[in-house]
Amino acid sequence: MAVARLNKRYRIKYNIMHHHALAIDLGATNVRVALVSRSGKVIAKIKDKTPKHGKNGAVISQRIIEMIGLVMAKHPDARPAGIGISSMGPLDYQRGGPLHSPNIPFTFVPLVEPLRRKFSLPVFLLNDANAAVLGEQRFGAGKKKKNLVYITISTGIGGGAIVDGNLLLGGSGNAAEVGHMIVDTTHNIRCSCKKGIGHWEGCASGRNIPKFFKTWAKAHGKKIAVMPATAKDVFDHARSGNAAARGFLDALHRVNARAISNVIVAYDPELITIGGSVVFMNAPVLLSGIKKYVDRHLKTPEIRVSRLGDDIALLGAAAAAFAQNK
Ligand SMILES: [Zn+2]
Repeated sequence: MAVARLNKRYRIKYNIMHHHALAIDLGATNVRVALVSRSGKVIAKIKDKTPKHGKNGAVISQRIIEMIGLVMAKHPDARPAGIGISSMGPLDYQRGGPLHSPNIPFTFVPLVEPLRRKFSLPVFLLNDANAAVLGEQRFGAGKKKKNLVYITISTGIGGGAIVDGNLLLGGSGNAAEVGHMIVDTTHNIRCSCKKGIGHWEGCASGRNIPKFFKTWAKAHGKKIAVMPATAKDVFDHARSGNAAARGFLDALHRVNARAISNVIVAYDPELITIGGSVVFMNAPVLLSGIKKYVDRHLKTPEIRVSRLGDDIALLGAAAAAFAQNK
């Protein structure tokens, strides 16, 4: 009887053991650590600036270890199934961390090994857009969908695709890097990746919209008294009725719609969700622009703005940990 009771207690404890995952979201500006439940509830979350000073990239993993310590100290009963990491790219999966990532001063940031060693838990590493599409599938609009694409339009543009129920990783883990598709052949704009001209990100990301506006205005002989400095300025001018800004938005919609058309051709998704700061601040205008100009010969899937907001990559990182531990 005592043994049966013990077993029962053990089983209960065992179930509790796997009701949570630790999720890390590492970006060039901020790093966030969260404890996430199986249902996608963020139970605890802390944020810090991504360390930029130190001998090498290990300062970042050290900071993450400290942050996990803080989260776990508040929830000592949680026994996470694993640690999922959503990271800025590009990633070196062999070494387990970002390599030559722009906007941070370290060549390589070791993530998988230091965390595995410290916490003796399975650790899963994904780039941020791949993590996001997993988050959408497990916790968002993509539930029960086997074919979906998530696109983020913020400082840069990224994408993640799930096809036939499988997350597409590709040979180097960088499949669905749709921000670097060529979508414009008239304005000759160099992308922020410095590797090409006419890339989607080079025209339509938050960082590059002002540059696209300037180039477009010059090409169309528009005299602009004060050039907008930010993407927000461009959208604000259009909202206030500025004719040049409204004309430019039409060109931006065509670029976005061409990119989305390419995404549909490449992945044949049932659902495309879009997110990222540029989308969240201008959702109706961007969505209607895409729908207006998307290739009408295509079978257009459902296209909607993600409801998971800024937590999507964090939730996706947790989903990766749960997926390995059902
Ligand atoms: Zn590019």
